[in-house]
Amino acid sequence: MATQEETFKKIVAHCKEYGFVFPSSEIYDGLAAVYDYGQNGVELKNNIKRYWWDSMTLLHENIVGIDAAIFMHPTVWKASGHVDAFNDPLIDNRDSKKRYRADVLIEEQLAKIEDKIQKEIDKARKRFGDAFDEAQFRSTNVRVMEHQAHLDALHQRYSDAMNKMDLAELKQIIVDEEIVCPISGTRNWTDVRQFNLMFSTEMGSTADGAMRVYLRPETAQGIFVNYLNVQKTGRMKLPFGIAQIGKAFRNEIVARQFIFRMREFEQMEMQFFIKPGTELDWFEHWKQFRLRWHKALGLGDDKYRFHDHEKLAHYANAATDIEFQMPFGFKEVEGIHSRTNFDLSQHAKYSGKKIEYFDPETNTSYTPYVIETSIGVDRMFLSILCGAYREEALEGGDTRVVLGLPPVLAPVKACVMPLVRKDGLPEKAREIQDLLKFDFKTTYDEKDSIGKRYRRQDAIGTPFCITVDHDTLTDGSVTIRYRDSMEQDRVKIDDLHEIIRKATDMKVLFRKLMNA
Ligand code: ATP
Repeated sequence: MATQEETFKKIVAHCKEYGFVFPSSEIYDGLAAVYDYGQNGVELKNNIKRYWWDSMTLLHENIVGIDAAIFMHPTVWKASGHVDAFNDPLIDNRDSKKRYRADVLIEEQLAKIEDKIQKEIDKARKRFGDAFDEAQFRSTNVRVMEHQAHLDALHQRYSDAMNKMDLAELKQIIVDEEIVCPISGTRNWTDVRQFNLMFSTEMGSTADGAMRVYLRPETAQGIFVNYLNVQKTGRMKLPFGIAQIGKAFRNEIVARQFIFRMREFEQMEMQFFIKPGTELDWFEHWKQFRLRWHKALGLGDDKYRFHDHEKLAHYANAATDIEFQMPFGFKEVEGIHSRTNFDLSQHAKYSGKKIEYFDPETNTSYTPYVIETSIGVDRMFLSILCGAYREEALEGGDTRVVLGLPPVLAPVKACVMPLVRKDGLPEKAREIQDLLKFDFKTTYDEKDSIGKRYRRQDAIGTPFCITVDHDTLTDGSVTIRYRDSMEQDRVKIDDLHEIIRKATDMKVLFRKLMNA
């Protein structure tokens, strides 16, 4: 059995080998934490985006989209708090010269203690079998109680330090916990410093000098500054939402784990404007809707969980993450936040404009509250690949690598192949491809044995392979082969369209979302 780390390495290698994700500027040795999507990756990514976009704007009459610019007026980032507070606390190890996020080092320490507790519990469960009572064990076992007390104290200390952004205290925690650098193994740490994550550049070149502008670190602010425009021109009534997909940039200190943490990435964000006082109901509503959206893809319900935030940002009154079980643990893929009226009020204050909603029902004006759903396209992409990648042992000692992608997201829906490269079979195969290509992304492959061609399609997650043989020419039937079961059926050419449509129709997922 491959370890989780080996599996992850294989997935990264697979992404490159099969045209999903390449390191950026690879011929120049790449650029750290920046990646390009290849011919299959871009199809998968576009399908993810379409699934999200349509689930927002088609299924909800009261959600509309926008596409705001990446550059925004610099005061936007003053108002949003990003200039002053979009910082990570960083610390360097003097021996390895490696830089870490202090908060991440401490969180890893917390996870280690949790692991220790879990190990004790697993051991005891094995020993006691069915008679095992976990609650009782937790409250009586001395070792577990010691670990738990340590965990609680450290947790408290850590959240106090983070809430106050007390950098000296963060350093002290690292010292007291005897946390070592994973590379050098030493405790030779620098002080903790703040590091702003926004990229900046200069715009224009006038005699007075150029203006410093930022590359947006999130797409949300493009929505807030367009709230009035959309509300007025769209005559939108509360509650309503504005959705946006677009690039965001963060100068991440610790950029590891492939496309999980990138410096240039893409977000899909929706801000839902509501009447103050209704936010906790709407928060719950969006939490559940978003979880259904993930689960509808069928990668396994147990791979998702909520992680409610204990430490809330100063403007939020509820926040949760949807986490996915990656090979390196449960990790945040999406955040759902109740942001109160913080952003709109800030923009009203800094711009001097009145940013409110006139409620015709109560004849009053107020600043709407906001529920935000914010998901990274790239992290979603990674979660799908991790959930879909599998190696299967076949009869005869062979193995195959399959991407069990949800068919609706698969880059290629069907590959058409002539059994041999003669006797008019290639022409017939092309004819079939022509029948399908207006509705589905298809490919054609005539090289190598059929078995090899099947493997190539398995590796990119193509749900259907269609083989044209000599009988096809006389009886109009083909062999269709299913990716997951590897079973084969003989079907009429005329039925192909409907078979593929049924399996790859996004409407099926949408119905699941709406009928829950
Ligand atoms: P993290 O704690 O992992 O840095 P975050 O809480 O700062 O993430 P948000 O600001 O809530 O993230 O951003 C919303 C979503 O955008 C995240 O759930 C994630 O999917 C995505 N995202 C954020 N930063 C990155 C990044 N550097 N690379 C890829 N995706 C990202």
